[in-house]
Amino acid sequence: MKKSYCKVCKEPLEGRIDKKFCTDACRCSFFNRVQLRERKEFRKIDRIIKQNRKILKQLFEAGRAQASKQELETMGFEFGYATQVVVANEGELRYFCYDLGLTSARGQLQFSLVHDRP
Ligand SMILES: [Zn+2]
Repeated sequence: MKKSYCKVCKEPLEGRIDKKFCTDACRCSFFNRVQLRERKEFRKIDRIIKQNRKILKQLFEAGRAQASKQELETMGFEFGYATQVVVANEGELRYFCYDLGLTSARGQLQFSLVHDRP
């Protein structure tokens, strides 16, 4: 029979075959590390989405209705991070960072700025 080891301290495990940790302390330590890693990842993503919204807000406050992909990227906008993707008219996609977002026709590098409420 194959011997198994604790996922934290690597001590040989005894007892139930599906056991993963030698003690409650090792089990807690493992899940605390997993949660820490997840929280770090959430914070990173939250930071990017908030930065994206800040950029959209600056453009709105400047009275802009459109922005190019290059301009947005220069300002630090990171495409691919959004809180919501909405399918609007004729399959047009709108990407929101909270209440502010952008949209463009397929393949276009010019984006229209949109608010989630008229
Ligand atoms: Zn252990």
